[in-house]
Amino acid sequence: MQAPCGEKRLRRALLSWYRTNTRDLPWRETRDPYAILVSEVLLQQTRVEQARGYYTRFLKAFPDLGTLARASEEEVLHVWAGAGYYRRARNLHRLAQTVAETGLPATAAELEELPGIGPYTAAAVASIAFGEPVAAVDGNVRRVLARLFTVEEPSIRWLQEKAERLLDRGDPGEWNQALMELGATVCTPKSPRCPTCPVARVCAGRDDAERYPAPRTRTQRAVEAVALGLRGRTGGFVLERRNGRALGGLWGFPLAEGEDALPLLLARYGLQSARFLGTVSHAFTHKRLTIHVHEAASNGPGEDPATRPMSVLDQKILALAAPENEVL
Ligand code: SF4
Repeated sequence: MQAPCGEKRLRRALLSWYRTNTRDLPWRETRDPYAILVSEVLLQQTRVEQARGYYTRFLKAFPDLGTLARASEEEVLHVWAGAGYYRRARNLHRLAQTVAETGLPATAAELEELPGIGPYTAAAVASIAFGEPVAAVDGNVRRVLARLFTVEEPSIRWLQEKAERLLDRGDPGEWNQALMELGATVCTPKSPRCPTCPVARVCAGRDDAERYPAPRTRTQRAVEAVALGLRGRTGGFVLERRNGRALGGLWGFPLAEGEDALPLLLARYGLQSARFLGTVSHAFTHKRLTIHVHEAASNGPGEDPATRPMSVLDQKILALAAPENEVL
């Protein structure tokens, strides 16, 4: 059946563009499934330029599944620190402990059974590392397909079916990467470069690209919080091990949310008062924290924050609590 936008022309044009315009990225130089998995997990929520550094650092510390499986969770979080969305690192660690003996499975269906692996990551790893003909649909692919076929609100089912139909079964890994690359570098959310796009001739949305797909509304709660830069008797700071999905397993400054945050923290550490230092803000997917940082002295021991895995949020607090020229 003839495709509405000329599937053959689309495949030819996109693959030929990708082969000459592919960005030089370290994970494209390997077929090691573990390295590809690490890159895909990083790229879920980290920009390519940032992911590059974390990818190299992570693989240097944990070059294979066995090394990662034998590391402690704290060591893994230390290496991941700064990349954000720490649940990814905890899941990678659990995954390594599950398959260190057997190696990664080669199909998307089996990969999806592992901790932290969703349909996109499973399909990306299975197609790129193992050549399985499965379509990987991420945000970039969603945008490109919605524009190619002028669909304002593409359903997950429509996207998967369309992507499977377009898939180049000769080299599914290359095809998936080409489609993602187009979305990342040409068919961008704002100001897509339609005049120079390799598939413009078969794209139904090229004259009104930004209309597709319709924007998704995300609500972000504004939350007030207080953090304590509590200096220990012997130097350093009092740090707490964080719980919860976002930052669990990392370490940070005593922190509480809500109207009673300051009295609550003072009571927790038996303090009468604390001095206001300044404010930092930090955004998570669903909330934006405004953190009022205070300092006080503790009778207990402190520790050097550099020895603990800390999130970017706590690095911001640290920058206020310990000016750069100060030795902890
Ligand atoms: S022509 Fe424009 S809208 Fe269509 S795929 Fe290319 S960049 Fe995207």
